[in-house]
Amino acid sequence: MTRDHILLTPGPLTTSLQTKLAMLRDWGSWDDDFIAVTARVRKSLINIVHGEISHVVVPLQGSGTFSVEAAVTTLVPASGHILVLDNGAYCKRAAKLATLMGRRCTLMPFADHEAVSPSALREKLVADSSITHVVLIHCETGAGVLNPLQAVADVCAEFDKGLIVDAMSSFAAIEIDARKTRFDALIAASGKCLEGVPGMGFVFIRKEILSGCAGQSQSLAMDLHDQYIYMEKTGQWRFTPPTHVVVALAEAISQFEAEGGQPARLARYVANYNTLVNGMQSIGFKPFLDPTVQAPIIVTFHAPAHSNYEFRHFYEAAKARGFILYPGKLTEVETFRVGCIGAIGAIEMEQAVHAVALALQDLGIPSGTPAPVASA
Ligand SMILES: *Cc1c(COP(=O)(O)O)cnc(C)c1O
Repeated sequence: MTRDHILLTPGPLTTSLQTKLAMLRDWGSWDDDFIAVTARVRKSLINIVHGEISHVVVPLQGSGTFSVEAAVTTLVPASGHILVLDNGAYCKRAAKLATLMGRRCTLMPFADHEAVSPSALREKLVADSSITHVVLIHCETGAGVLNPLQAVADVCAEFDKGLIVDAMSSFAAIEIDARKTRFDALIAASGKCLEGVPGMGFVFIRKEILSGCAGQSQSLAMDLHDQYIYMEKTGQWRFTPPTHVVVALAEAISQFEAEGGQPARLARYVANYNTLVNGMQSIGFKPFLDPTVQAPIIVTFHAPAHSNYEFRHFYEAAKARGFILYPGKLTEVETFRVGCIGAIGAIEMEQAVHAVALALQDLGIPSGTPAPVASA
């Protein structure tokens, strides 16, 4: 196959030709031209969350998780106590990295098919005054749930707790407005809804808390305060920047702005989501989540009940038709996931559903209908 597969995954995802072409040049990290690209990217990122007055943005080399880890180690003092609102795999990952870095960390469990509860958070903060920071995953990519950022931020503000938001798979698609929503840190990355290539993350940090973060990180490479100070002083990245990733992101951001910014991106993803879910339902598949908690980012489907079904084979059959699916991340139920994000539109989603239908045919499975669920 000489054409790229369409990636129906939550990153890396399908990028536009212009974004790929932007990577065909070499850049010197000290050079003024590259310094200007970094500055332009940072300015655009701040604009997306309307954080010009309240926040700074600090880019960091690495995948998204590197930036989550950096935010925790930079913002939370060694004596801090982190509460992670847990409704999925990415929440557990955040708790694990916080614990590994020696921070006291408590998981507050919620069901993986439900949004986390701001009122339960409220009760927890009343009951345990030792908590200093709350970690929220905005869109829990594990199942695809959209969590209530504004309500959680309001509770954290009321109790004057630091809020760290992993907005990796929502940023630039779901509205986030720093003028209305108070957060200490918010993390996203190049290779998600901005439709750049993977390789860098970035963290918005509230200006008021920035100076208090000096010297708090026990990691040199992950110290966002240090990265920020150096970047402000020199315009450069502290250590070798992912130059090709940065220029590709600059190009992807230009396309994002030309498309109409966050509202336009959301509209396209919602259209992708609707085309996908309607099409999949027409061939028997059932989404795992209730539409009221579903983000239009990634959809978890129940696996077909048929005994011929095995994800590996289903995956290979869909891949042979040009589409890359994603395995499920739930422990209790057999599922798979299909992303709605990337430089794709309703046409690709229609083709994806068609590819899935043909994949079922290849495997001798008459429909996507899952096993009936025992009613509660
Ligand atoms: C993609 C993603 C991350 C980062 O994952 P990496 O594999 O490190 O890029 C973190 N949190 C969420 C919610 C994500 O969707």
